[in-house]
Amino acid sequence: MDRPDVTAFVALGANLGDAAQALRDAVAALGDTQGIRVVRASRLYRTAPVQSTGPDYINAVVEVSTTLTAPALLDALQAIEEQAGRERPYRNAPRTLDLDLLLFGGARIDSPRLTVPHPRMGQRAFVLVPLAEIAPLLVSAVQLDTVADQVIEAL
Ligand code: ATP
Ligand code: CA
Ligand code: CA
Repeated sequence: MDRPDVTAFVALGANLGDAAQALRDAVAALGDTQGIRVVRASRLYRTAPVQSTGPDYINAVVEVSTTLTAPALLDALQAIEEQAGRERPYRNAPRTLDLDLLLFGGARIDSPRLTVPHPRMGQRAFVLVPLAEIAPLLVSAVQLDTVADQVIEAL
């Protein structure tokens, strides 16, 4: 039997090279992946690095519909990061592409390689603002208020 479609949200970020192009390529790569359909994508946003260094980040959030399991979706995200030349020299290092699984339906997952909902999403304007753009019911005004001090602008 086919697996049911699950609505999931993926955060995209990059701050090395042509970051905007890296995000557009990543959205295309997501759509080209078997078992993943891109439902909607936020605009691209520019943010100053949070707990990180290097150039400004470009961020976005996409909604996907997927027949993959959550671990298989993470595998797909990591394969796309690899394709983009992602390296992890140290924590919060500048990156060519970062794809985080924010939400996977209503699932709560706490495994060694995957925590969902993403544990730090509520502290990050670069996640909450684009998420609110495409899924306003998922982000409250109170949540947005708590990150209102973080500078973020739509491109
Ligand atoms: P942060 O998670 O704070 O945004 P990061 O994105 O820079 O940091 P990475 O180096 O990209 O961290 O990922 C480290 C590990 O996080 C990955 O190897 C992955 O197994 C794990 N991980 C746990 N939960 C998630 C999730 N929801 N989405 C993506 N990766 C996750
Ligand atoms: Ca991240
Ligand atoms: Ca990540």
